[in-house]
Amino acid sequence: MTSNGSVDAIVPENEAGDDVQPLNGILSPGFINAHCHIELSHMKAVIPEHTGLVEFVKQIIYKRENPFSENLSEDYFEKLLDIKHKAMSRAVDELYNSGTVAVGDICNTADSVELKKDSPLYWHNFVEVSGFVDAVAAKRLATAEDILLSFIKAGAKEGNSLSPHAPYSVSAALFKLLNEKTTGQLISIHNQETLAENELYINKTGAFLELYEGLGINIDHFLPTGKTSIKSWLPYFNNGQKIISVHNTFTSADDIAHNASPISYCVCINANLYIENCLPPLDMLMDNGCHIVLGTDSYASNWQLNIFEEIKSIQQHFPHISLENILKWATSNGARALGIDDFFGSFEKGKKPGLVLIDAGIARRMEA
Ligand SMILES: [Zn+2]
Repeated sequence: MTSNGSVDAIVPENEAGDDVQPLNGILSPGFINAHCHIELSHMKAVIPEHTGLVEFVKQIIYKRENPFSENLSEDYFEKLLDIKHKAMSRAVDELYNSGTVAVGDICNTADSVELKKDSPLYWHNFVEVSGFVDAVAAKRLATAEDILLSFIKAGAKEGNSLSPHAPYSVSAALFKLLNEKTTGQLISIHNQETLAENELYINKTGAFLELYEGLGINIDHFLPTGKTSIKSWLPYFNNGQKIISVHNTFTSADDIAHNASPISYCVCINANLYIENCLPPLDMLMDNGCHIVLGTDSYASNWQLNIFEEIKSIQQHFPHISLENILKWATSNGARALGIDDFFGSFEKGKKPGLVLIDAGIARRMEA
């Protein structure tokens, strides 16, 4: 490797010269975390485990601006911003030290713009849009475009795009607007994270109805499609988008059988265990030749932001899947999904993939 971290050449040991450092363990290219929410880093351990997704979403809405249930003093939001910045900064350190080099990061605010300006990591910012009522679609989109602009103006090398939050929080009108606004771009969406999402689309039944009622959202306009969630939202995107579909916990083989769009299926196993105490359908995704990538989700639903802990969790629950396969998901597949495989994801001449040493159950970043 050259001094700036790019791969100079891959050579056999007997041609490597004298300056060779022997290492124990596995040397891997840097990890790609395809799904994170760095701006929720102040929510570590705020929401209890195993609430189920609908209750989790409710608690995120109520607690993200008041995680510690404080009485709101005059300078509360200033203090909270400081807490958020410190938590995000600690989270980036954890990502970096445990070997992550690039992140697909969901943004609902511009809180992380400054942090990302001088970050040692590559970020693709997915500025998320939600609104389950058609009437708010244009307004919500305009707000998200302002946030997107703050990331673009920060002038970083990163990728930036708008993205729908989830099928249960995006109206038909908003899906249509997003399809227009994201032509040819990379987008991300939370998909089939709970069974209730399919129930909503198939029959307009299930736990989401209580959520809307609790939030005072009238969903009289919503017509069930009679199809599962992914079969209902995917057809909205017909302008050449590349899609990272996140979670897919309740996705079936039938759901993915006829997907024409280039989709990466992002697995966040620890978040699934944290929120719903269930496992992603990894065998089904593998059997169907899906492009699998890994993500941590946020501190609100994970004990850490460490891709190697995701790998270990997969090994624990799916012992028949080889480490080689899982490492591919965490590196080259992730880089391809984020469209950064010219630089990241594998040891090839000219790439600058980062260097991770895996030994004794721990992954740590090595300086090149
Ligand atoms: Zn998420």
